[in-house]
Order: sequence, then structure tokens, then C-alpha cells
Amino acid sequence: MAVITPVDEASIARAAAMLREGKLVAFPTETVYGLGADAANGKAVAAIYEAKGRPSFNPLIIHVADARALDDLVEWTDAAHLLASSLWPGAITLVLPRKTTSPISLLASAGLDTLAVRIPSHPVAQKLLRAAGIPIAAPSANASGKLSPTSPLHVAESLGDKVDMILAGGRSQIGVESTVVNMTTATPIILRPGGVTQEQIERVLGYKIDSHHDTSTPGLRQEATDGKAYAPASPGMLASHYAPHLPLRLNAEQPNTNEAFLAFGPDSFIKGGAARLNLSPNGDTGEAAANLFAMLRELDTPAHTGIAVAPIPDTGLGVAINDRLRRAAVR
Ligand code: AMP
Ligand code: MG
Repeated sequence: MAVITPVDEASIARAAAMLREGKLVAFPTETVYGLGADAANGKAVAAIYEAKGRPSFNPLIIHVADARALDDLVEWTDAAHLLASSLWPGAITLVLPRKTTSPISLLASAGLDTLAVRIPSHPVAQKLLRAAGIPIAAPSANASGKLSPTSPLHVAESLGDKVDMILAGGRSQIGVESTVVNMTTATPIILRPGGVTQEQIERVLGYKIDSHHDTSTPGLRQEATDGKAYAPASPGMLASHYAPHLPLRLNAEQPNTNEAFLAFGPDSFIKGGAARLNLSPNGDTGEAAANLFAMLRELDTPAHTGIAVAPIPDTGLGVAINDRLRRAAVR
């Protein structure tokens, strides 16, 4: 069982150091407890999915201490500036275009060109983010399919020793997740209801906005086991999944002449292919997850007729990788 650690200056410094080393730290926010990792470290982000046992990769919310820290990560819009200055720190998450130079791992955003970002108000979250000095990817700190945790004990019960440290900061006051707002459309759209109401957002913006989410009670809704925490009412409104342009051929033993090859495990004996990358030469599904979206993007060029992907074992993060690949292969 992970040690539940009371909050003081020393434990916050230790938690920050652990985050910088790529470890997993559960920490309190005003919405629910988050399972944090260095958002720029693909392996650390892979460890989040592994600890939660998610059968698929959901994009994660990136947490920072103040708005300035976002300048390197996302492209601001006027409406985002408005919402940020009025409602942050707080229980609202803004989905913004990702800067091309953004250091955030593509795995953290499940390959998308957007990033969901939030500045939490909880004093412990604030102190931890400042001490760490790096953007922290953090979904709710519960096993996939379980309720979001609002106390350190919930985290310990749900994740046990899969997390390196649990910072105990009492109960989360709000107790439901943050409101997720897509800021990449002409008018902002609520993707997930949460701690900040639609009326609050509309008051700040000065106009009405739409909401595209399911009708189940926020917070009480369980995470769907297929990894979709909400169902956008209008599919296609949101590029909810990254898809390569080229056709994918899965479970390929070897590539054809004009195909690019995405290998897994030892591959020096496999001949052919126009280009080749290896998700993990020694067959580690965590390393493969960390490389998945970046390598797919790199091979996804008109220079090739398609991408042949080697078989990936359905164990560990291989389950989520295969889920992602199957979806990307359907055209
Ligand atoms: P959780 O991981 O439980 O904190 O939930 C995060 C929520 O934010 C999920 O509903 C995600 O689908 C959503 N989300 C995160 N990043 C993005 C993004 N780039 N675009 C749209 N939704 C996102
Ligand atoms: Mg969650």
C-alpha cells in the first residue's frame, strides 16, 4: 500500500522531486484527487494509464500553477484569456490548440492536436505544482471504471501500491470533476459538466454557449470501461481521437515494399519496408505506449502507402495500445 503522507513543506518538496523523477504522486485538488506525473515524460504518463488499468488512452488534463506556465504549451484565444482570468484557479479545464513546440508528451493528449489545461485552486495542489516547476498530467486518482476519489483513503483503496506517494490534503471540497470546455471551436462548447456551471461561464463570456455531454450526474458517473468518460452528443464535433492519414495494417509479420513498418520487440530479422521505427526493441509495452503517437505521426507521411504494425501482446499497456490501433485502423 502506498504511504499516505501528511502535507508539510518537506513532504511537498519530496513529492515534487518524485514527480520530476518520473514517479506517480496522488495529490488533492478542489475537484477530486489527481494521479500526477511529469506531462513531458512519456514513460511517466504511460505509468498513469498502467496504474489506472485503463483499457484505452483517454487524453489527460495538464495541470500548472499559473497561466504564464501555459504560454509554452498552448495557443491562447481571447475567450480563453477571459475565462482564465475570471475562473482560474478553479474547477474549469480549457481545451486549447497545442503549440507545435509544446514539450508535453503526445501520449498525455492521446495523440490529439489539442491540450486540456487547468490551474487548480487547492493550496496543496498549488504548492506542489510550484515546487515541481513542470506541467503535471493528472486524471482522477482511481482505477478505471471506479468512482473518482475525494479523500486520500479512496486513492489508497483504489490504487494501493501502484502510486508512489499519496499526499493527504483532506477531502476535496467540490467533489466533482472540473468542467471541460472546448475552446477550439468558434464558440466554446462544454464537453463535460463539472464544478463550474454553464451559467458562470456564460456570465464571463457575455453570451450563451452549447453543451455536448451525456446527461448522467457529473461526479457520480463512473468512468466507462471503454475509456470514454463522456459521449459527445454530436460525433465529429470534436476530434476525440487521433487518426493517421495512412491506412494501418495490424498484426503485420513484415512490411510490403512501400509500407512503413512500426515494429515491436527484436526486429532486425524482419526485411523490407520503406521506413521503420520500433515502439520498444526489448518488448516493453510501457515504452511502446510512450512512443506510440509520436511514432505513428512520424511514419504518417505521403511517402508511404500505409503503415504496417507488428503484433503487440495484449498484456499491460498492450491492451490500450491495441485498442487505439484498432480504432485508428477503421476508416
Ligand atoms: P479525467 O482524466 O478523469 O480527469 O478526465 C479528463 C477529461 O478531460 C476526460 O473527459 C477527457 O476526455 C477530457 N479531455 C482531456 N483532454 C482533452 C482534449 N484534448 N480534448 C477533449 N477532451 C479532453
Ligand atoms: Mg476520471
